[in-house]
Amino acid sequence: MNSTPEPPFPDAPEPSLRLRIDADALAGNWRRLADLGRVETGAAVKADAYGLGVAQVAPVLRAAGARQFYVAHWSEVAPLLAHVPAAEIAVLHGPATPADAAYARVLGVRPVINSPRQAALWLEAGGGRCDLMLDTGMNRLGIAAQDLGAEVLQRLEIDTLHSHLASADEDGPDNALQLERFAQATEQFAARRRSLANSAGIALGAGYRFDLTRPGIALYGGVPRPDLAGLIAPVVRPQVQVLQVRQVRAGERVGYNGTYAAQHDMRTATVSLGYADGYLRAWGGFGTLARDDTVVPVIGRISMDLAIVDAGALPGLQEGDWLDVTYDLRSAAQHTGLSQYELLTLLGRRFRRLV
Ligand SMILES: *Cc1c(COP(=O)(O)O)cnc(C)c1O
Repeated sequence: MNSTPEPPFPDAPEPSLRLRIDADALAGNWRRLADLGRVETGAAVKADAYGLGVAQVAPVLRAAGARQFYVAHWSEVAPLLAHVPAAEIAVLHGPATPADAAYARVLGVRPVINSPRQAALWLEAGGGRCDLMLDTGMNRLGIAAQDLGAEVLQRLEIDTLHSHLASADEDGPDNALQLERFAQATEQFAARRRSLANSAGIALGAGYRFDLTRPGIALYGGVPRPDLAGLIAPVVRPQVQVLQVRQVRAGERVGYNGTYAAQHDMRTATVSLGYADGYLRAWGGFGTLARDDTVVPVIGRISMDLAIVDAGALPGLQEGDWLDVTYDLRSAAQHTGLSQYELLTLLGRRFRRLV
């Protein structure tokens, strides 16, 4: 036996999970949203670019023309700075502590100020250009209507005034109400730009677009409103390796708790994909894998690291082969009860993300 090696260790071999990211589709989605909006178009790349990988996504979006990027956490700044200049980064959660404010100032990224307390923290740290989020009815994050007159806000050096739509993916009176409140509230502040629309908001009409839009989900292939369906191309394609191919006899059962029983002798394949990778048990009995045009159903329970398919339609399938995971966001959202946002951000760290 060899003794434990000293680091640095050699690179791990190729993982058995790949997340293929279609750079052309990603750039195309950004461009088509920019063309539809006809105003400056940013990009929400929080949560590791909705799970796709900020290192893979940010260079593509910047090359396409994006010059304003949004993350939520301070921990998301450094990975983005490897690809995007500090002046193009805004942090949606804003500074909760003096350390957050100091960090923003050292790096030169803009905090999005969400409360009078955050404004005071920012000014105490030395201040500088920042964004201001106004709450216009979502009651989530942002300056509440009753705080709009707070004196501390008037001392901010505001780059962009924001608000966020609660129901842009639905038609109803809420959107127009938030629009009206935003237009009114922004009159009280001097700022370089105003921004209201997320992906779905861009489709609500020119009145919602102001100077800058902040799409996220639609960049990554999500379709938050039916009227965006024709515009948005799918971006992610998960692929998994076959770890084992087995013969299962009629009457034998498959997977945890034996929830699937073979009705006849059959050939199954066990693949390297489980709920720890974001392929939740909600996919059991609904999910499919495919090779070219041949589709095979997932059978039995999804395990933490494994799923099982009925490989009958793929007689040549062998250990080590790769299969595509069917991952249509809209139909998956309907069948699993998960949102398209969840379906993307769930995709686990064990996928190798490839552009
Ligand atoms: C996440 C987020 C966005 C992007 O929203 P999508 O629905 O993914 O387009 C825009 N603005 C804010 C404030 C956000 O938090």
